[in-house]
Amino acid sequence: MAVQGKESIIDPLCRSNLSKKGLCDYVINVATGCIHGCKFCYVTSTPTIRMREKVLRDRGVADPQMDWGQYLFVREGIPEILDQKLSRKRSWDETAAGKGVVLLCSTTDPYQNRQCAQVTREAVKVLLKYDKRVRILTRSPLWVNDLDILVHPNVTVGMSLPHLSDELSRQIEPGAPFPSDRLKALTRGQRAGCRLFIAMAPTPPMMESSDFNDHLEQLALLNPEIIFWEPINARGTNGKRMLAAGLEWAKSVMTQKSWASRFVEQWDMLEAAADATQLRDRLHIWPDPELKGYVEQSRFDYWWNRPTVETWPVLQKTA
Ligand code: SF4
Repeated sequence: MAVQGKESIIDPLCRSNLSKKGLCDYVINVATGCIHGCKFCYVTSTPTIRMREKVLRDRGVADPQMDWGQYLFVREGIPEILDQKLSRKRSWDETAAGKGVVLLCSTTDPYQNRQCAQVTREAVKVLLKYDKRVRILTRSPLWVNDLDILVHPNVTVGMSLPHLSDELSRQIEPGAPFPSDRLKALTRGQRAGCRLFIAMAPTPPMMESSDFNDHLEQLALLNPEIIFWEPINARGTNGKRMLAAGLEWAKSVMTQKSWASRFVEQWDMLEAAADATQLRDRLHIWPDPELKGYVEQSRFDYWWNRPTVETWPVLQKTA
């Protein structure tokens, strides 16, 4: 049974090491838990869940790892606390790769339901009030309700769209809106003039060249600024969750060697598809440190800490 509630937070704006992925320097997570319940989700392996298992059990979550997707605690107080914090903040970190951007979210989905969407909307308004750069990353089309604030030079909206199969989505992202609905939302955003990016992540191991070609042909129509990519990594309990969900194909990437070899194969397929669709300059590969030894060092180094090709308006200095 789903466990839902609220939680308070002292400091919603956290420094983030996701600059390594070219995503941000700061992150705001509007909730603990995520009702999309993706079987491959890595969040349960992060301190966000691992370090808080006892707290979550005390709140009624029987197994915070295996019950991922069955609990959600929303941080409704974020906009007010964020405003107070930014009104006092005198410095702002900006790395070459992270570009001072604030990401919503890294360990949950900012638009997974109306309650989260409301917190996200108000938090974005606060960030824009202080001239911050904002990156939204979601699997839910609900963001199109906020185009009035999201069509802004300091905002880019991205959707996770690892594949285009609604049928596969039901198996691996059981609570998330269909990829076909995500494409419709992106089309609406594009028509409205919204800055867009795509997280083609994580791709399942059975995707082949023709799937990558079809996918990039669809993405080309949306004219995204960036297409981030990585394949499914079986780590922590997500391998166990994929097998428990009957996803037998997950076994093909369970060892480091099999995972790394499929990673490099799909990487090659993606680059070939990007060449065919003139999207090569938009690709942004997310290499994994555990790939070392399986891929040429120069190829790995090129993508590690590489800034994205996005450009942002010049930030005003915090007073
Ligand atoms: S939407 Fe993101 S955070 Fe939520 S379950 Fe899926 S991968 Fe995890």
